[in-house]
This record gives sequence, C-alpha cells and structure tokens, in this order.
Amino acid sequence: MAAEGRCDVLRGTPRGDSAPIARSQRGRGRGASAGWAELESRGTELIRRTGCVDFGQTRDPENLSRLMTEVGIEHALLTAEEAAERWPGIRTNGPAMWHASAGVIDAQTTVRTMVDAAVELGAALFTGFTVASVTRSGAGFTVTATADSTAAVSVVNASHVIVAAGGFLPGLLGELSLPSGFLAALPTFEVRQEMAFHFPYANPDEAMDWP
Ligand SMILES: Cc1cc2nc3c(=O)[nH]c(=O)nc-3n(C[C@H](O)[C@H](O)[C@H](O)COP(=O)(O)OP(=O)(O)OC[C@H]3O[C@@H](n4cnc5c(N)ncnc54)[C@H](O)[C@@H]3O)c2cc1C
Repeated sequence: MAAEGRCDVLRGTPRGDSAPIARSQRGRGRGASAGWAELESRGTELIRRTGCVDFGQTRDPENLSRLMTEVGIEHALLTAEEAAERWPGIRTNGPAMWHASAGVIDAQTTVRTMVDAAVELGAALFTGFTVASVTRSGAGFTVTATADSTAAVSVVNASHVIVAAGGFLPGLLGELSLPSGFLAALPTFEVRQEMAFHFPYANPDEAMDWP
C-alpha cells in the first residue's frame, strides 16, 4: 500500500489468461470485498467507487471480460461505438470493458485505519523505527533499530517477525539472519523506475462529475 500517496486504484480485474489465475482470484476477490467493507464500517470511507474502463490492445478487454465472467465480477463489454457514445472524451479504438465496482483507494487513510485497528486489537506500534537487523535469540528474534531511529525503543523482542519492506527488501536481506541456502535460492531483485503523471483537469469544477 503506497501509504504516503492519496490514491491507489482498486480493481477486481484478474490478470493473465489462465484458469488457475482466474480461480485463485475468485476466492481472493470475495475475501477482499468483505475485508474492505469491514474496514470501512469503522466509519471512514476508504474507496471512492468511480468505476473503471479498460481498453486498448494491452488491456485486451475481451479477454478481461471473459475472466471477469469466470470469476463472477459484474462488468460490461461495450463495442467501440457504445463506448464512444457513453464516454465522448475517450477514443477506445475497439471494445471497452466497464467495471463498475472498481474505484480509487485513499491509500494513506487506509494504512492509518488498518494500523489503528491493529492497535485497538492490542498491537504495540513503534513509529520512527528503522530496522537495522533481525537476529535469532532463543526461540524468537531480536529486532534492532538503526542509530538514527526516533522511536522510543531501539530493540524489540518478538516470537515471530514478518518483514514487509516492499522494494526496500534487498537492502535489508543481509541483516535478517536468513540461512545462506535460502538467500542463494532467492531470485535477483530488479527495481525498475516507474513514472506516474496525473494530467490536470481542464475544468476542475466538473472533474468530480466525470465519467
Ligand atoms: C507510482 C506507483 C503507483 C502505484 N499504483 C498502484 C495502484 O494504482 N494500485 C495498486 O494496487 N498498487 C499500486 N502500486 C503498487 C503498490 O503501491 C505496492 O504494491 C504496495 O505499496 C506494496 O506494499 P508493501 O506493503 O509490500 O510495500 P511498501 O508500500 O513499499 O511498504 C514498505 C514499507 O517498509 C518500510 N521500510 C523499508 N525499509 C524499512 C526498514 N529498514 N525499517 C522499517 N521500515 C522499513 C518503508 O518505509 C515502507 O513504508 C503503485 C506503486 C507505485 C510506485
């Protein structure tokens, strides 16, 4: 979850074209919807259900539609003419798939809501704790913070450790006391640059009414 950003895109779209992928998405989709509903029931809207249009060769809307049907996600496959009529501002040059329950997630609020829920359930939260190392100690682990961490504690003992460092993982891997065989078996990490650009609205007053 891009915790610092305000928006991420939520979509139930399965990727690829294999049946196993579609099947695995079926269970995941149902579970995810219930989870999001439970999180939002805490009183904060986290997803703005804008819907989503898929079109173009890369997205392959016809194949996506087939997969969506297979996993039971409501959607509509439109011809280029129907799409042009519905969204005059978009030229799809082919069929388009409309997925009504897709939306935009407020990523930052979502992460905070999840963290608040965990704390309410008894989790201890340490912010400003940059992990320097995780070492085995007895039956558990000792997690040590870097010297420049601002957290109130610099060492945490835990019976289990889950590392969720995202793209930062390669920098930490050597400090996690992992068996050399495990490290050797890991594939090489390749972090690529991604450029995101949001075009300004031509008319901001009407932006919320479109599409
Ligand atoms: C520009 C951009 C746009 C995206 N758009 C979408 C989208 O529209 N929809 C979508 O579903 N996904 C999107 N993604 C992907 C999504 O953001 C990631 O898949 C998601 O953030 C991964 O979550 P994560 O928790 O695994 O890792 P991250 O979100 O990267 O979290 C890792 C965390 O670990 C912390 N950390 C790292 N090292 C340490 C350490 N030593 N000690 C303590 N903490 C540490 C980091 O500060 C960070 O907070 C986008 C990504 C990018 C970059």
